[in-house]
Amino acid sequence: MNLHEYQGKSILANYGVRVQRGVVADTPEEALEEAKKLQEETGTGWFVVKAQIHAGGRGKGTVTETGSHGVVLAKSLEEVPEKAKGILGGHLVTAQTSAEGKLVNKVFIAEDVYYPGDSEPSEIYMSVLMNRQKGRNMIMYSTEGGMNIEEVAEKTPELIFTEEIDPKVGLTGFQARKIAFNLGLSGAAFKEMTKFVTALYSAYEGADASLFEINPVLKTSDDKIMAVDAKVTVDANSLYRHKDIAEMRDKSEEDPTEVEAGELGLNYVKLDGNVGCMVNGAGLAMATMDIIKLSGGNPANFLDVGGTADAARVEQAFRIIMSDANVKAILVNIFGGIVRCDRVAQGVVDAYQNIGDIQIPIIVRLQGTNAEEAKKLIDESGLAVHSAITLQQAADKVKEVLA
Ligand code: GDP
Ligand code: MN
Repeated sequence: MNLHEYQGKSILANYGVRVQRGVVADTPEEALEEAKKLQEETGTGWFVVKAQIHAGGRGKGTVTETGSHGVVLAKSLEEVPEKAKGILGGHLVTAQTSAEGKLVNKVFIAEDVYYPGDSEPSEIYMSVLMNRQKGRNMIMYSTEGGMNIEEVAEKTPELIFTEEIDPKVGLTGFQARKIAFNLGLSGAAFKEMTKFVTALYSAYEGADASLFEINPVLKTSDDKIMAVDAKVTVDANSLYRHKDIAEMRDKSEEDPTEVEAGELGLNYVKLDGNVGCMVNGAGLAMATMDIIKLSGGNPANFLDVGGTADAARVEQAFRIIMSDANVKAILVNIFGGIVRCDRVAQGVVDAYQNIGDIQIPIIVRLQGTNAEEAKKLIDESGLAVHSAITLQQAADKVKEVLA
C-alpha cells in the first residue's frame, strides 16, 4: 500500500527523523488557515505547496487545467491560497502518471526549508528498500539527489552507493558512519546524518515498509539534515498490526474496480489486455493467463474467485470483469475440487441470465468433480456460452472467438 508524502513524513517524525514540517488542506481557504498555524509554529515566511498524489515527479509535473507545477513556492502567506487553487481539483501529469494524470484532492503546505541566500543547498538521495534478489534490505544513497535522480541512475550509476543490511544484525553504527562519510559530510552534518539514517531505518522496519524513498534529503548550510520528500510503500499484509497506518489508506488513489472487488472478497488485479478471466486459485489463474497469451490474446485481469465459486460470486465476478470496456471475451477456468463443477456451471448460467444482454463470448472450462455434468448443463442451457474440458480446447476457443 502506498502512502502520501504527508503521511510518510508523519511516520518519519514519530521515529525521530527530522522532516520538513507542514500541514494539509483540501481547499484554498483551508490552505490559508492551516498555513497561518504553520507560520505561528515555525516562523516560516515562505511556503511550498505540494500536490498529494501517489506518484513522484510532481515538481516537474504540470496540472492540466491550470498549467501550475505540482510543487510550487508561495513567497508569502497571501500567496498560499492562490497557489493551492492552481493545484487542487486539477489533474497532475508527471513522468510517473498516465497521460490523464491524477486528480489532486489534497495539498501539503510545507515550511520553506531552503534558506534564501543559501548558495547551494545540497540535495541528497536516500532510500531504504527490499532487495528481493538478495532477500535483504538495502540503503541506496547519492550526493546527486533532487529532481534529476533518474538521469543520474542512467548516466552516472557509479554515483549511487548501496549498503546491504544483515537481517540478523540490523543497521550498524559502522554502516551509518560509512554512509555519512561516502556522502562527503563532516563535523555536525556527519553526526546528523548518522542519526538520520539510523532513525530512517528504524522507521522502515517499524512500519513494515518495503520502500522509504527520501529525495531530496536536504543538508542545510547550518548542517541540518532533513527529509523534504517521502515516498513510502508499506506491506499491506502487515496492516493488521498497524491500525494507524491502515487508516492512511486512500482508496481514491486505487483502481475503483479493484477496490470494489476487494470489498467483495475477490482477488482482482486489472491488466490492460482483451480477455477477461475468472479462475479459482492463484496458481491456476497464472496458468490461465499464460494460456490466453499462447492463444493470441492478452489477459485483461487476474481474478481469483477463491474456494467458494457459487452463483452469487460468479455473478459478481462477471460484473467486475465486464466493467472493463477492453474485454472482448471471458475465459472461465474452474477446477472443481471442493466445489462441484455442476454447481459452478449452474452459477454461470444463473449469472448470465441475471445480468442479461451479454454481448461478449464466454468460454467455460470446468475440470474435476462432475465436470461432464457441468459441460452438459452449459451445452443445454441454450446460452451463447462455449464449454471446454481440456485447457487446449479452451485455448482454441479463445483463439476462435478473437479471430
Ligand atoms: P517530487 O518532484 O514529486 O519528487 O517532489 P519533491 O517533494 O521532491 O519536491 C520537488 C522539488 O521541490 C525538490 O527537489 C526541491 O528542489 C523543491 N523543494 C521542496 N521543498 C522546498 C522548499 O522548502 N524550498 C524550496 N525553495 N524548494 C523546495
Ligand atoms: Mn522528490
